Amino acid sequence: MTAIRPVKVVRCLRCHNLQLTTASRFFTCFRCRTRNRVGPETVLKMFKDINSAHAALVRLKAGPGRPP
Ligand SMILES: [Zn+2]
Repeated sequence: MTAIRPVKVVRCLRCHNLQLTTASRFFTCFRCRTRNRVGPETVLKMFKDINSAHAALVRLKAGPGRPP
């Protein structure tokens, strides 16, 4: 087993919810339960540690975004 798995900031294609995942192929959106493929269309950023990934997620959610 490899010790380090990259943590990805991913976006659900259906409801546009942002969340973190360490999955390499698929992740399930915890808001709408849609199963999304992990790929260029869903992965926004990738990190080696959970702390950096979480900080980026918070910033993305808080940042100048689209209306709800
Ligand atoms: Zn969703």
